[in-house]
Amino acid sequence: MKPRPIVAGNWKLNKGPAEARAFGEALAGRLGDVPRSKVDVIVAPPFVSLPALKPQGFFSGAQDVYWEDKGAFTGEVSPAMLKEIGVDYCIVGHSERRQLFGETDRTVNLKVSALLAKGIRPILCVGEKLEERKAGIMYNVVRFQLSAGLFDVSIKNPEDIVVAYEPVWAIGTGNVATPQQAEDMHEVIRQSLEKRFGIDDGGRIRILYGGSVNGDNIEGLMDKDQINGALVGGVSLDLDKFISIINLIAKREK
Ligand code: PEP
Repeated sequence: MKPRPIVAGNWKLNKGPAEARAFGEALAGRLGDVPRSKVDVIVAPPFVSLPALKPQGFFSGAQDVYWEDKGAFTGEVSPAMLKEIGVDYCIVGHSERRQLFGETDRTVNLKVSALLAKGIRPILCVGEKLEERKAGIMYNVVRFQLSAGLFDVSIKNPEDIVVAYEPVWAIGTGNVATPQQAEDMHEVIRQSLEKRFGIDDGGRIRILYGGSVNGDNIEGLMDKDQINGALVGGVSLDLDKFISIINLIAKREK
């Protein structure tokens, strides 16, 4: 049986506290008809909007974190602080952080470990650049990101961690990966996870696809065995469009 799917919205640098509060209330209302057992919904706003979101029937996620609990690290936010305000998930290693803010596989690994130690579930993002795909090295790139990001990491159960495959060339471009391109990479990720955590846990860790997902392409992606949901950027800012993806996924679950 496939694990329960996830639809996660990454708002990036959009929506301050007032908009987040209104969105959270409206989303909670609209999710009333969607059985909780069918799909886990996560919304990841900017840090300052997390307390306003007030998740009901869905989960909150941060978009980044620092790995130390406290200290002289100006501008940073710790896992302990996220825990204190009830954050459930945290995106780590998003390609925008890797490309624009110097995130490395080493810092990704420190963040993943620090989050797990505080009981926050990391959403570990991996994905190749266009030139890496053109050079045919995409599977090795992603295998390396995974093994480095998960170095020395242990989990208690398969829901503790989520992996998001986000090809860089598909993020915010409208160029969604074909279902088969995504599935081929998800199979590679699944094999790595099974090797790393064992068949039982590794076989049930949720692997999301991210990159220009919308209501028109989500079903083709979800038809694939190893695709366990979506990390949605731009489209997650629009409540109706976000809900329609959630409904399409929930409807498929028995
Ligand atoms: C993302 O930022 O994680 C993402 C997938 O963005 P988009 O859906 O806009 O491509």
